[in-house]
Amino acid sequence: MARTFVVTAREICNKCGGTGYVYHPRWEQYWLENDGRRMLAQDDVDWFRAQGFDVSSPRDLPPEEIVCPKCTGNKVLITRGIPLEEALKELGVEVSDVC
Ligand SMILES: [Zn+2]
Repeated sequence: MARTFVVTAREICNKCGGTGYVYHPRWEQYWLENDGRRMLAQDDVDWFRAQGFDVSSPRDLPPEEIVCPKCTGNKVLITRGIPLEEALKELGVEVSDVC
């Protein structure tokens, strides 16, 4: 039986752009609803409390950035087990050229 070859692809995470962090979804909503302006500290607390967060002071607010859920902070996405033919095709190499 002939051997089969598979490759591993490594690419910059397209969700965080390779930083490993993304905005907390609620903070994104906060900035959208407030036209990019920060409210007073107590208004922030009230806004997050209305979103279901258990906050009583500005210190309790969730962090604005969280670890990217797609790459789990690794900054890159690794895909293993890609058939060689598929990888070559994506690279623009005709499989008939090499087989
Ligand atoms: Zn990421």
